[in-house]
Amino acid sequence: MPITPAAYIDTHSADLIRRLQKLVGTSTVNPPGENYAPITAYLVNEMNAIGLKTKRLTVPMAEVKKVLPADQHAFPRYNVLGKLAAKGAKKTIHFNAHYDVVPVSGQWKHGSPFSGKVEGDWIYGRGTADMKGSIASLLLAIQSLTATQTIPKMNIEVSFTADEETDSLLGAGWLVENAPIKPDYAIVMEGGELNQVCCGHNGVVWLEVTVHGQAAHGSTPEAGINALEKMSALVLALDAYKQKLAKRVFKTPDGKTMRPTINLGGVFSAGEGGKINTVPALAKFSIDRRVLAVETVESAERELRQVLTVAAKKIPQCKITIDKVSDNHPCYNKPTHPFFAAMATTVTQVRKQQSVFHVSAGFNDMHFFSHHLKIPTLGYGPGGEDIHAIDERARIKELIRSAKIYAELLTTFAG
Ligand SMILES: [Zn+2]
Repeated sequence: MPITPAAYIDTHSADLIRRLQKLVGTSTVNPPGENYAPITAYLVNEMNAIGLKTKRLTVPMAEVKKVLPADQHAFPRYNVLGKLAAKGAKKTIHFNAHYDVVPVSGQWKHGSPFSGKVEGDWIYGRGTADMKGSIASLLLAIQSLTATQTIPKMNIEVSFTADEETDSLLGAGWLVENAPIKPDYAIVMEGGELNQVCCGHNGVVWLEVTVHGQAAHGSTPEAGINALEKMSALVLALDAYKQKLAKRVFKTPDGKTMRPTINLGGVFSAGEGGKINTVPALAKFSIDRRVLAVETVESAERELRQVLTVAAKKIPQCKITIDKVSDNHPCYNKPTHPFFAAMATTVTQVRKQQSVFHVSAGFNDMHFFSHHLKIPTLGYGPGGEDIHAIDERARIKELIRSAKIYAELLTTFAG
């Protein structure tokens, strides 16, 4: 009896741990985006070794300069693309993960942030959960197929991309526009974990509102226009909009209720020249609007700008300007396509626990595949605990399970 991919994975977990430790040990903190060259060189080698035809794609310097601030121009951007053609396969599936991580701070109790220390069933380090663990799981999954001479039912494309922790513009965003890929399905290997298969995620719109007043001496406030007071009135006026948003509900396939929200003034400030004895001439605050998976950033931004404009008009002498800070698209794939059913069944079987379809409150790179390539896209990976925090970690059992899930899907679903 030839060995099955799942049995191979069980006996080769050391390969997964070894790769994950190497990936975690190569600190790819973003910003600024350090060590992208060595990590992508390592990935190309490992991918070639397990049978993928792999290329490293360099983002042209002109584009780097357009997107990144000057102090990051010395940090080149790369994306890695690997392919494996399966004999007789008609469809192609694309797996994506980002290899950058967020900066570290604080006192770690389990090894240093880049040690990849193993304790019991956990492996610790920045990126173990978000999301170098997913990379290690997928590499072992593909290795298990080639090593056991199991032909996948779909052609495989794999991309490991940069910059998800900032805005993905030179990572997944660049890849879907510039790389020679032609997938029919995509799995972004985060957003869903354990028994949850992610079929969409929220988006965001970030705006900055500036209220313009008129300075005067603090002893004669009536001679000026107090921007702080106008801002306060404007902020209170947004209460009605908050209540309106709270009534807008989206029921996810796993029965949860999601609502759009606004958070006012995570950042607020007076302009230059703000002094205790001066009537403030300027007051600024930020708005973080969370966009439901079924909304669009365009409509959310348009509505918010209109609400602000109308509210400001009702306040005497309240002059405002609104600037966009950034946005990130939501996406939602109604999980009716057989691709979703196949993944749900695979997750249920491997984990021996009923899987559910889930919509992620945080955003990830799924929308690039879902919107730009317009293909069924889901999120699933090993995940972990304390993502972006101290003692980030992944459970080794889940890393192994994800490898088995990817391998099982590749040998059962033909598209
Ligand atoms: Zn991530």
